[in-house]
Amino acid sequence: MTGTARGSVETSTEAELDPQPTFESLDPRTGEVVGRHPVHDAGEVGEVVAAARKAQQWWSDLGFSGRKQRLDAWRKLLLRRLDELAGVICAETGKPLDDARLELVLVVDHLHWAAANAEKVLRRRKVPSGFLMANQAATVEYLPFGVIGVIGPWNYPAFTPMGSIAYALAAGNTVVFKPSELTPGVGEWLAKSLAEVVPEQPVLSVVTGFGPTGAALCESGVDKVAFTGSTETGKRVMATCARTLTPVLVECGGKDALIVDADADLSAAADAAVWGAMSNAGQTCIGVERVYVVDAVADRFFDLVTERAAKLRPGGEPNANFGPITMPSQVDVIRDHVDGALERGARALVGGGHSVRPPFVEPVVLTDVPPDAAAATEETFGPTIVVERVRSADEGVERANDSRYGLGGTVFSRARGTELARRLRSGMVAVNSVIAFAAVPALPFGGVGDSGFGRIHGEDGLREFTRAQAVTRLKYRIPLNPMTFGRSNRTVRRLVRLLRLFRGR
Ligand code: NAD
Repeated sequence: MTGTARGSVETSTEAELDPQPTFESLDPRTGEVVGRHPVHDAGEVGEVVAAARKAQQWWSDLGFSGRKQRLDAWRKLLLRRLDELAGVICAETGKPLDDARLELVLVVDHLHWAAANAEKVLRRRKVPSGFLMANQAATVEYLPFGVIGVIGPWNYPAFTPMGSIAYALAAGNTVVFKPSELTPGVGEWLAKSLAEVVPEQPVLSVVTGFGPTGAALCESGVDKVAFTGSTETGKRVMATCARTLTPVLVECGGKDALIVDADADLSAAADAAVWGAMSNAGQTCIGVERVYVVDAVADRFFDLVTERAAKLRPGGEPNANFGPITMPSQVDVIRDHVDGALERGARALVGGGHSVRPPFVEPVVLTDVPPDAAAATEETFGPTIVVERVRSADEGVERANDSRYGLGGTVFSRARGTELARRLRSGMVAVNSVIAFAAVPALPFGGVGDSGFGRIHGEDGLREFTRAQAVTRLKYRIPLNPMTFGRSNRTVRRLVRLLRLFRGR
């Protein structure tokens, strides 16, 4: 079997001749083949997971400081060879070089934080043993699950999976990573580079292929699956994992909103809206897809957004504002959303149906979009934005929350920023800037509703890849022991009396 990540082809004669099926990854700017990778089947995935399981005891036995030493060495290698990996990202996604570099800047900072903080967050610590068990010492410790299966998307092919990989490794797990079929080279580069500084054991391995390879990883006996991708695939991953009760972390799509209050810095808000919506060609899970602007400042804001968006140019050259649509099938989704909205009475402030010129899409700004149109409700994942007037920031919050998704959000307001942020039904919010939370390693990252559940990054992200283990240790025996058949018939009654005394007030 041979195939390409952007439309696979299969011929039985080739399958008979070629014992190891492969697929090609392509540069979406040119269609040029940039790599050929194996399509791993369930048997091969199983072998890789078995090797990762053997490696896990060794990795765990290194302890926090031994792992930190190695993860720090990996971080330094990533920094030294940042442009080499950025080149692989550009070749497989088509994004401009500086965007790939920015992605890796975030990767390096998260890797640093995870390695530096794992011990503090996860080590064994004492907790109060409480009124009933005062004669016990109580401790809790966060122990690694074992082997984590990570399944990743293509839009940020290093940053997104590393949000799981770095934290899972720092917590003492080994990882088997299934990168997107559009970006297998990035996954392989990451695993090979870690093997250069940790040659002893395969602590990070990669399996490549399409959906069935990902499904095989879910069924391989890994101890947890960390999935990032679309909501539809997330549901399939959960269904597969349910068969073996394998725990899952599910990071899915979004339809994030930005709210502009009457007292906002309009120029900064417009800049954030346009960058949040159009950088990376809008292929950002936490990208801005909807904007709700308070009526009093709406005209001025629309002008500022129009002026900024109209200047942007997609392209394949390094200084383009953004690159192509990486996944060809997404072009049809973007076209449907734009055309569908325009057919139902929306107005284009910038661009329109003609802006969709595969593999590129030029900026599109829409307004007066019917609230139930796909452009207002579904993830568009293109350089498009819907801007709407609202009577107040409170109505903005209501409209923002009227979504099946709940990933990130943005608020521009001088007086009410934090108050409005707290009322958004989302996992993350940036006040008076955009997407900043993703670059703060100490902050948890994840969504609610159709955006998924569980958290990467920060303390929560480290704990996500561990099982809490609670231990009590008897310090001394006391006469009032209710948990024995040898207890007297007065023991429990005394206990109730004591409880009334101390807990009944
Ligand atoms: P996708 O769902 O098509 O694929 C994601 C991964 O799942 C790929 O590696 C794919 O091969 C694998 N897969 C497909 N079918 C599978 C199956 N049945 N079992 C197991 N694995 C399977 O998503 P995509 O197009 O690669 O990524 C874009 C989506 O990812 C967008 O919706 C975006 O919002 C979302 N995303 C979310 C986050 C987040 O942190 N919440 C981050 C980045 C991207």
